[in-house]
Amino acid sequence: MARDPVCGMNVDEKTAQWKSEYKGKTFYFCAERCKQVFDKKPDRFAK
Ligand SMILES: [Zn+2]
Repeated sequence: MARDPVCGMNVDEKTAQWKSEYKGKTFYFCAERCKQVFDKKPDRFAK
């Protein structure tokens, strides 16, 4: 399981529909809205 960095929900990488790559790492999201929030300010969420 991956963790949605925006809302903290667990997301299954195998079925995740929304993901973003940032600084060589892949992040998974529970919903398009969380991905959009991340994409606007990835520095805020990526660690
Ligand atoms: Zn989310």
